Amino acid sequence: MPDLRSLYQEIIVDHNRRPRNFHPLPDANRTAEGNNPLCGDRLTVYLRVEGGVIRDIGFVGSGCAISTASASLMTESLRGKTEQEADSLFRGFHDLVAGTGPPGRAGLGKLEAFSGVREFPARVKCATLAWHAARTAMKTPGNSASTE
Ligand code: ZN
Repeated sequence: MPDLRSLYQEIIVDHNRRPRNFHPLPDANRTAEGNNPLCGDRLTVYLRVEGGVIRDIGFVGSGCAISTASASLMTESLRGKTEQEADSLFRGFHDLVAGTGPPGRAGLGKLEAFSGVREFPARVKCATLAWHAARTAMKTPGNSASTE
């Protein structure tokens, strides 16, 4: 059994304590809510998408350290990305935390801090909650959407 502390690496602790882009976007044109009842994580993701590019992104909500840190790191990773790049990051991140991708996939940067999540299957939903919400938001123009 891996040590649970190894899951809470420095980067995750930092992003949980001081989440980045932790605010609503007044000029968002995409929003979605994420809800993970298994853990009690709830968040709302706000995006401003223009010309297929994520110009700005923020989130609010409350949840465990994994869900909060993941949302925080996601906002840093997705800002300035095209919808296609965001989709590819989503798949790469999902593979990383679910343990379904090839090992050593490059290009995830800081997001690789979450690779330990694969040892804790119950935490995969926490780590991917914000990503599912952002993906739902991108595919649902002009409306508020929700995901579980
Ligand atoms: Zn959680």
